[in-house]
Amino acid sequence: MGAARKHHNPQSTLLAARLKARIARDGPLSVAAFMEACLADTGAGYYTSRQPIGEAGDFITAPEVSQMFGELLGLWAVAVWQSMGEPRPVVVAELGPGRGTLMADSLRAWRSVPDFHAAVRIALVETSPVLREAQQVGMHEAIAPVQWYGAIEDVPPGPLIVIANEFVDALPVRQLVWRDGVWRERCVTIGRTGGFAFCEGREVWSEGLRQAAHALRAPEGSILEVRPAAAALIAALATRAREAPLAALFVDYGHTETACGDTLQAVSRHQFADPLAAPGEVDLTAHVDFAALKDVGLAHGLAAYGPMPQGEFLLKLGLEARRDRLYEKATPEQKAELASGASRLVDPQAMGLLFKALALTSPGLAPPPPFGEI
Ligand code: SAH
Repeated sequence: MGAARKHHNPQSTLLAARLKARIARDGPLSVAAFMEACLADTGAGYYTSRQPIGEAGDFITAPEVSQMFGELLGLWAVAVWQSMGEPRPVVVAELGPGRGTLMADSLRAWRSVPDFHAAVRIALVETSPVLREAQQVGMHEAIAPVQWYGAIEDVPPGPLIVIANEFVDALPVRQLVWRDGVWRERCVTIGRTGGFAFCEGREVWSEGLRQAAHALRAPEGSILEVRPAAAALIAALATRAREAPLAALFVDYGHTETACGDTLQAVSRHQFADPLAAPGEVDLTAHVDFAALKDVGLAHGLAAYGPMPQGEFLLKLGLEARRDRLYEKATPEQKAELASGASRLVDPQAMGLLFKALALTSPGLAPPPPFGEI
């Protein structure tokens, strides 16, 4: 088999052909529509057709780096629950749980908090059937009830704690190009050699975008990314927060301030790839604009804390104390693994700075840890 064919399975060839037919019929697809199809197409989408996470897959996430990540986020949920007045039951919803590792590690940490363990109901919000199966395996020892949902709106009402690690980066982004004094939708079309190619589509106007162009002094040709699906998600959370206490934690990679730039990226087998080359075969993500997420939350009446760099966040949550506790019962190999996992999560050269944590809560709640500390 030739190197070029190795990454093209029949499903993705089919998806590429279908997308080309769609472009030939309806015209160029927006980057957001292209990204949506590549990730979530029912038959051939990247997430819907495979389990991509882990050494043997395409990328590694924080919960896969070390069990301490899920344990600390689980204990974060306990602290938030306490600040809510310990409601029973409380739902902990994880958005896009991947292999279910974070939740499995949280469950282990909750064993030492029996009151919380008795109160918690787990909601896993996942669209991919393949990943739901992987999560079922990960959850087989769970003694708290676990339910799967397709969207946060389907999770039953009541006090809610949401955890989302590397979820928002997988939601489609629109890319807008600043050209001749207007924003234009960046699109994907069929290029002269028959492959996919970027192009600029229709003008997009809104007062907010006009102001953004002004505030950012966008140079000619610069790209601004906006994420309608993330805004809709936060609006849905804000609606729930009017009925019952809510706290949500988003951990992802991205920037603190809104800025121009093309951050659409493809990753395959732990290497960067061409985002247009193999639809459905490579992971497509774009940086999270934390300022935009925060602004949407504030505009909907939520309280917002952060973003705080992941390294600082985990250290303040007690990563080192947890590591040292785990050392006590660890073999020398496990010790080395714990040490390297901890440093990968917090090292500024690794995940410590690029990844950030943002919390959004009901307005009446105390600041969640570690944001309340001085
Ligand atoms: N949180 C996990 C996985 C991150 S990968 C980890 O840290 O390891 C992104 C996850 O989000 C996958 O489980 C993917 O199937 C899921 N996902 C992507 N878009 C989604 C959507 N719109 N609704 C629900 N789940 C989605």
